Amino acid sequence: MTILVEKKEMGTKAYDSFFLHQGLEGLGAFNELIEQVSNKLQEVYAGTEQPFIGKTPNMIEEEISQIMSFPTEEQSFRDVLDEIDAPILKNSLHISHEKSMAHLHCPPLLPGIAAELIIAALNQSMDSWDQSTAATYVEAEMVKWLTERVSLPATSGGVFTSGGTQSNYMGLLLARDAFCQTYWDHNVQQNGLPQGFTTLRVICSEEAHFTVKKAASQLGLGEQAVVTVKTDENHRMCVKAVKEKLNQLKKENLLPFALVGTCGTTDFGSIDPMEELAAIAQEQGLWFHVDAAFGGGLILSHSDSGKLKGLENADSITVDFHKLFYQPISCGAFLVKNQEHFRYISYHADYLNPVKDDQEGILNLVNKSVQTTRRFDALKLYLSLKTIGTDQFGRMIDDTLKLAQYTASYMERLKNISIQNPEPEINTVIFRYQPKTIEGKDVNELNRTIQQRLLHSGKGVIAKTTIKGDTFLKLTLLNPRTKPEDIHSLLMEIEKIGAELVNGGLYF
Ligand SMILES: *Cc1c(COP(=O)(O)O)cnc(C)c1O
Repeated sequence: MTILVEKKEMGTKAYDSFFLHQGLEGLGAFNELIEQVSNKLQEVYAGTEQPFIGKTPNMIEEEISQIMSFPTEEQSFRDVLDEIDAPILKNSLHISHEKSMAHLHCPPLLPGIAAELIIAALNQSMDSWDQSTAATYVEAEMVKWLTERVSLPATSGGVFTSGGTQSNYMGLLLARDAFCQTYWDHNVQQNGLPQGFTTLRVICSEEAHFTVKKAASQLGLGEQAVVTVKTDENHRMCVKAVKEKLNQLKKENLLPFALVGTCGTTDFGSIDPMEELAAIAQEQGLWFHVDAAFGGGLILSHSDSGKLKGLENADSITVDFHKLFYQPISCGAFLVKNQEHFRYISYHADYLNPVKDDQEGILNLVNKSVQTTRRFDALKLYLSLKTIGTDQFGRMIDDTLKLAQYTASYMERLKNISIQNPEPEINTVIFRYQPKTIEGKDVNELNRTIQQRLLHSGKGVIAKTTIKGDTFLKLTLLNPRTKPEDIHSLLMEIEKIGAELVNGGLYF
């Protein structure tokens, strides 16, 4: 057989400036590109006075459609940056702005941003040791640091995930499979769902995250498998109601297998009574999963870490680092008290993680993940903790907790604002515009419009949420740089928009 391609055509130098490599072409191109990006971002941030430019969805969609053709040949990266400057960079939500305070969506720490560059450049894949070498141990050690912080036993383990959705999914997946194994001696991984699967039940509070239901549906149990329990006046899962519900399920011959507690609900940041829930779970043989996607950030808090008491009793835990740990998206973790349970999701692929690797002690993290190719996200948290220091990190979180308390007490003094949580558990504040002059009137649409107008004025990005059918406004005060003055001027703006709407007679 003759080789048809001539040697000189291959490995041509033409591509040298597209990749990072030892050669001067690659290094020079890399340096230039980083400098251009840095300059461009500096320019964008220097010119960013508002959290959002305020354009409508249609306007932005149109501008994006205008930049969607690709050249057949090379063009300079600087030109590309200039082309995306207005439609992408300037039309983006500026999440690091002091008045971006809608969702559990944080300003990313600079060491985390720098880590993203390193992660992309190294491009390690966490599935097998031979694709991630050192990174495998960094992730393993970061998981160990976390499990120790949470006081999980030595049998515990974990893995980095894309976030709370995936972590909650993994918690219920392991819970389901462990239950089917012990109760029916049935291997779900091999044989699919057992007969009788329609009787399986998961219990959580009515304020638990929607991904509990989503996970149940994806796990073949259906949303019907999720039984919600009412919350008390502080939005915490009501322990008495849990016990009653369990008794009722038993009477109906249903099989509760998992109890999900929330440590930091998305709206109120409320923390379910974890010690009591853990005791019930233990007594009734339920898997206790704690969704600490939000509240997990209190691990580092000096003032409020005590609120996590009981977390150490969980069978599995969800923690998000792209919320109260200030990491760029995406970055989360799933922890499990007994890492033997990972066997329910482990597969051995001959090319990736052969059984022989296990025997030889080679750590292939694919055995613990529902993903295969996976990012080296652990580096972000590692570099941030190293650079900021755990004490200062904790103070930063404490400052946001104080700001939330300040904001709530400030709102209590405003006569046109009614606050829902005068004592915020973490750092969300829920309120509505409701002047006395229109007392008793339905202000849902009014508050919805205030949120929209504020967004399109670009002067503040806040959230709206529905509580028992009524619309409220929400501030998620993650940014430690947000100051009381930012809160004052934001509320002035809200009152101004509200007064305009009310006086305009559109609503009443
Ligand atoms: C954000 C959140 C989730 C979902 O996590 P993602 O990281 O968005 O996938 C789940 N539970 C709670 C309580 C959350 O706050």
